[in-house]
Amino acid sequence: MPRIFSNRNRPLHAGALPTERLPKQRSVDLQAVPTMRALRFEGPKGSIIHAMAEHQAMLDAIRDGATNLAKSEIPAEPVARTDHFKAFATFCDATLVGVCRLGPEDHLANPIQNPEVATLAEALRTRQTKTLAAGIDLIMADLKESVSTPSGDMTHHRFALVFAYAQPRAPRADEAGTDWIKGAERHRSALLGAETATVLANYIRLLGWDARAHTESTSDVDLNRLAVASGIALWDGHALRHPFLPNGLALAAVTTTLELAPDVPLASSTVAAPGQAACDPYARRDFKDGAHPFETLKRVDQPTTYMDEPNIPRVPKRADLFARAQFGDMGPALQKAATGGYYVRKAAPSAAQRRALGAFVLLQDGTPSPVQADLPPQTASELIKATSYFLGVDAVGISRCPEWAWYSHDARGAEIDPPHDQAISMVIDQGYETMEGSSGDDWIAVAQSMRAYLRFSLLGGVVAAQIRALGYSAKAHTVMDGEVLQPPLLLLSGLGEVSRIGEVILNPFLGPRLKSGVVTTDMPLKHDQPIDFGMQSFCEACNKCARECPSGAITAGPKRMFNGYEIWKSDSQKCTTYRVTTPGGAMCGRCMKTCPWNLEGLFRDAAFRKVAMNVPKAAPILAKLDDTLGRGGLNSVKKWWWDLELSEAGSYHPTQHAVNARGLQKDLKIDHNDQTLAVYPAPLAAHPYPYPDPMDREAGIAAYKAMVPAKDHIAAVARGDE
Ligand code: SF4
Repeated sequence: MPRIFSNRNRPLHAGALPTERLPKQRSVDLQAVPTMRALRFEGPKGSIIHAMAEHQAMLDAIRDGATNLAKSEIPAEPVARTDHFKAFATFCDATLVGVCRLGPEDHLANPIQNPEVATLAEALRTRQTKTLAAGIDLIMADLKESVSTPSGDMTHHRFALVFAYAQPRAPRADEAGTDWIKGAERHRSALLGAETATVLANYIRLLGWDARAHTESTSDVDLNRLAVASGIALWDGHALRHPFLPNGLALAAVTTTLELAPDVPLASSTVAAPGQAACDPYARRDFKDGAHPFETLKRVDQPTTYMDEPNIPRVPKRADLFARAQFGDMGPALQKAATGGYYVRKAAPSAAQRRALGAFVLLQDGTPSPVQADLPPQTASELIKATSYFLGVDAVGISRCPEWAWYSHDARGAEIDPPHDQAISMVIDQGYETMEGSSGDDWIAVAQSMRAYLRFSLLGGVVAAQIRALGYSAKAHTVMDGEVLQPPLLLLSGLGEVSRIGEVILNPFLGPRLKSGVVTTDMPLKHDQPIDFGMQSFCEACNKCARECPSGAITAGPKRMFNGYEIWKSDSQKCTTYRVTTPGGAMCGRCMKTCPWNLEGLFRDAAFRKVAMNVPKAAPILAKLDDTLGRGGLNSVKKWWWDLELSEAGSYHPTQHAVNARGLQKDLKIDHNDQTLAVYPAPLAAHPYPYPDPMDREAGIAAYKAMVPAKDHIAAVARGDE
């Protein structure tokens, strides 16, 4: 349900729900709270719980690790620290966060240990990966060294951050597509809680303090007691509950030596006031349909931008610009900044997210079960969509996966023979609120991307595992290890249209504020159709992203044909160079932040969407109005992160560089004729192998000038000139 009122004045550490209005009491009887019991990832045959089990165990396997011996410089006040970690957890979608002191009585007499952990820890120590992207080898080396040792000494941990994730409603008995997810509500929320706890524990250790994650399946501490002590739950004599979470909750925690400011427990008499319960987007919608009214979109036979399918060349994965930076194709400065994923590690929140991202690489692919389930394509698609939405994916579309959507060679230079012809494309929202506080290219930008990439690695990985369990081949293509080009698959599956930003496909309900992932499979599926919501007219009349792009990489000119696609081709070299080397932040998503389609999700946004979709001539007025209202500017209430940068000593310290903190450049006029842009189509792409292949920018500039409109390309093909 869209909200009526904006929460632009609510800081992230306050959380999404008005819990400050609930009565509190200084002391509660924790003796009355029953000891937690391990959540077993077991369920009936065919349940998604089995596919979740390995991912939960992987998070449990990395819940602990080495603490950075170089201590970072962070605020000394416990309240400031607590607000920061609470905001980080809210950014990770925790429904509630609380803090309490930790004493010996909070430790479990018999710690809970996920039985799968030992297997996963061994896999992390021994398995090799075949990707060479983004410093994955470095992450794997770190993982091999530091997989969890259960129940080591944590007696010096004095504080706990406790997280509650709301459970979704139970599927209705007759609800289509829900056979896999029945009875999995708590497991789903426990899994998301485990992701947050694992990332935050790693974050605190990177900052130089001991910390360990505890989950519903592996814990040294009693999560029930901690939840009551930290004010995020009540024991009502029958169950642990929170007055705003009618469907129940799942827990996770981080214990640490870092001093924090404890919260006050809820008063035992607390009841929910009407209307304050957490909004459930699925209260009146089927899981298979998603949280947004995707069914209202106009469906069309072909994407709204031309694709010359017979002539789309396949390129090697090595042609990706981040890979080119890493292998030195763009010079030594860029290579230094890209090696080992330095541009991700230089900010502590994103450095913390990389560990789980690396670990999930081992679960992306696997051997299918020998027994194949017989599922009609429509049923299979409904099951996959309902499951994906239930788990927390923001948009799902299903399409064919043509051969031309596959890279020609993998990261090591081996030829790819496309194994799958079906694609399940998924979109993860990068989060409106943090983006409000960000310039788009400051010290949180990279963590916004990594948060969404990690969520897909987790949820896409679970869906792929479920498909394999049914006897079909399936692979999750993540930021760490992917073998398909995702934008055309998003177009084919109706998840968006081409936007001026370039390779970013814009979704009408999420705007450009998204990261995608794809699961490919040989399971026969029913396909969605592409959508038409007027984006082409809108972007033709608006060039706000081109105006606001700090690197000048986005074209203010028209669409052209590039590698067989009609797109607004941006200068990826300029974009990558800026993202990897900007001294004032870590990476950049300013185009997403400043776009008029980056909406908060309020009722009033529906009016914008309706006019934008149905009245193409209104686009310039809407774009102008967006500027007039100052949307896309900075909202300091939402800034929760610290501007810390990785030092030579390996600790994180306040950056010495001027932080990117940009307002809108409303008066800047941008003329396409003044832009010098370069592109690298297939003939200029990198060779497939992991050694240098220098880029020729002059050739790239000439290639940009040589690009033609779609109609000229079509005519040339008809004449046999292409
Ligand atoms: Fe299109 Fe304007 Fe958004 Fe750029 S900022 S993607 S031109 S709507």
